[in-house]
Amino acid sequence: MSATPTLREVVPGRVFSVHGFGFSDIFFVVSNNGNELIMIDAGTQPASLQAAHEFLLVHHTELPPITTVIATHAHWDHIGGLSYLRALNPNLKVYGRENYAGTVDRVLRNHSYQQFRGANFDHAWVENYQPDITISERTDVEIAKTRVELIPVEGGETEDAMLINFAELGVIFVGDILMPYYGEPWVEEGFMDGAMATMDEVIKRQPKHILHGHYPLTELYGPTQIKQFRTAYQWLVTTTRHHIRNGYSAKDIMRLNLIPPGLEAHPEVYLSYLAPREHIIARTADHMVGIWQEDKTGQEPGGLYNLTSVEYGRLLAVYLDLSPKQVAKALQKIIANGDNELALHLAVAAEQRFPADQEIIQIKQESADRLRSSIQFFDPFKFVTYSEMINKEHKPVLAEPVSTK
Ligand SMILES: [Zn+2]
Repeated sequence: MSATPTLREVVPGRVFSVHGFGFSDIFFVVSNNGNELIMIDAGTQPASLQAAHEFLLVHHTELPPITTVIATHAHWDHIGGLSYLRALNPNLKVYGRENYAGTVDRVLRNHSYQQFRGANFDHAWVENYQPDITISERTDVEIAKTRVELIPVEGGETEDAMLINFAELGVIFVGDILMPYYGEPWVEEGFMDGAMATMDEVIKRQPKHILHGHYPLTELYGPTQIKQFRTAYQWLVTTTRHHIRNGYSAKDIMRLNLIPPGLEAHPEVYLSYLAPREHIIARTADHMVGIWQEDKTGQEPGGLYNLTSVEYGRLLAVYLDLSPKQVAKALQKIIANGDNELALHLAVAAEQRFPADQEIIQIKQESADRLRSSIQFFDPFKFVTYSEMINKEHKPVLAEPVSTK
C-alpha cells in the first residue's frame, strides 16, 4: 500500500521490507548462517512479487536464494505470488496454518468491485494454495540456523492467522491482525475478541519491530502504540456491545463519536484509534444482530425495507415530479453543504431515472470525488469502492524508486 517502490532495511543486513509492488508489503529475512532467504508472505500476484524481488536484488546483489516462505494468513494479497517462488525454486518450503481452507474459500468469490483485487485477478493464484508444512500449535522451528517461533492465533481478520517471531532479531511479523476492517469488508470475517488475545501475544514478546502486512499498519500499530491501542480497542468493543444490547444500531453508535476515557493523553494512538473506529463498531454489531437491526428511535429498522436506488429515483422523478435540471440543482445544494454521502446516494438514484443526463453524471462524479479525497488516507477500501462507482481507475504515482535505511 504505497505508491512508490520503497525498500527499507529494518534490521541492517538481515530484515528487508519492500513496498509499492502490489497491495501488500513483502518481507525478506536473511538466515543466521547467511545462506538462505526466508520470505514472510508471498505478495499480491506473481508478476508484482517478481518485480519486488528483482528490485531488492538490484540494491543487495549479495543476497542468498529464497528457500522458505512463511504465510501469516491465506488472504489473496499474502499468497498470490507463490507460483513465482515455486518456479524459482522447486524445493521451496512453505509454512502455513492447517486451517487455511476457510480463508481461501472466502477469497474465491467473484467480486463486482474489480478494483478491489485488480481487474486481472486470477483465482488460480490462491485456489491451489497448499502449505508444505502446516502449523496448528505454537511451534519453534530452525531454518538455516535461524530460530523462528510460529504462533497460531485467531487474528482480528481471519481464523488462520499466524504470528512469526524472530526473537533474536527483535522482529515479529503479524500479517493483518489489526487491518481496520477486521476482515475483508465484503465477507463475513473478523474476530473481535481474537484480536485482543492476539495483541496480548504480541505485547508479551516485547518486540522492537512489529511488521504488519501493509505499511500504514506498521506505522499505526508499532511497539510504541500497541498497548495503548489495545486498551482503547477493548473499551470500544465493550461500549459497542453495551449500546447494541440497549437497542442502538451500528449507525447510531457511529454517531456518538465514542472516545475512550484517557485517550487524550496519548496522541500517538489518535490515528490508530480513529482510522478503524467505524469498522470496529460495524463488525462488533454485525456479530450480534440479526437480519433485522433495531435503532434507538424504533423508526428506522435496518433490513425491514428492501428499498434501493430504484425507489429513490422514482421518488425524485415520479412522486416529486422533478426534472433532471431540478434534481441537479438540489444535488448541487447538497454538495455545497458538504453532505457528500447523501449527494452520492441520491445522484446514483437520479442516474437510474435520467441515465443520459450529463449534469447528473458529472455531479455523481463530483460527490464521489469529494468522498474519495476525504477518506484517501484513512480508508483504502472505501477509496477503491468510490473510484469504481464512478469508473475512475487510480493509477500509481510515477516516481523514482527509493531505498531507505
Ligand atoms: Zn493484507
